[in-house]
Amino acid sequence: MTIRPSLRPGAILLRRDATHLQIGTSPGFVLRDRPGLFPVLRLLDGIRDLDRIAALTASQITEFDGDVTAVVTELMAAGLAFDARTWDFPAEPRLAGEARSASLTGSPPARLRQRSRFGLRLTADTTSAELAKATVLILRRAGITPTTGENTDLDVMLSNGEPARRRFHEAMESGTDHVRVVVEEDRVRIGPLVRPGLTPCINCHDLHRADWDSAWPALMTQFGVSAGLGLTSALCATTLHVAAATIAAEVLAHCDDAAPETTAHCLVVGPHYRDHQTWPVSFHPGCSCTLLAAA
Ligand SMILES: [Zn+2]
Repeated sequence: MTIRPSLRPGAILLRRDATHLQIGTSPGFVLRDRPGLFPVLRLLDGIRDLDRIAALTASQITEFDGDVTAVVTELMAAGLAFDARTWDFPAEPRLAGEARSASLTGSPPARLRQRSRFGLRLTADTTSAELAKATVLILRRAGITPTTGENTDLDVMLSNGEPARRRFHEAMESGTDHVRVVVEEDRVRIGPLVRPGLTPCINCHDLHRADWDSAWPALMTQFGVSAGLGLTSALCATTLHVAAATIAAEVLAHCDDAAPETTAHCLVVGPHYRDHQTWPVSFHPGCSCTLLAAA
């Protein structure tokens, strides 16, 4: 089979004026028209391969006197057409949408294959369960499904209010990448995403806090203890879903070897869904986490 050309996914084909065609409207790409070109372009649906398109053109679009292969090659070079074979993921069909999106942004869709192998562990308490559910829904659409297996590439820990530090310590000891997500009142704080020994950890964050808030160590001893007292969050629907999308984006960035926004940063979504605030978290000189890298 030859390539299966497709015009830019999601873009509509229009006749602009007597001598030009247009692909898409944002802002759109203009092509000089020629007899038969419009119906030829309509054949570029990502289903038919190039041989089939050439055969159909020869038999049914007799007014077209050009070379179909040359037209397709030119469109692909200009980013106006793609080979739909790169969007085929027989084992994970949900990745097709992600793959088409990747093509438009210029990143190779083949990189998405690692998503189905990504070991995501995601835990939540009762109050943060709805946020976890919304996050999982987005991640599944993007090709990542949480696992309870041994292989953990990233541990996402959601809680209502600050959680007990024990699990962070365990993640540091096992060298597991992890990210803290805290629902607090009407907002969600994400980060820092910790790569043990390589990026600042939760303990760094706590030590910085204790530097200016002398009661922080006393407060820390109560984290996770009072969380079970029927606490409820005050997240509105829009903020909850933007927070879910933000958490999912962090997981995808980690999986795709992109740069998660919460590496060495905390990020808060809310109270309004458009509120998005970040601040840096640095290594604390009193934290031993950098010794991990040297070990
Ligand atoms: Zn640290």
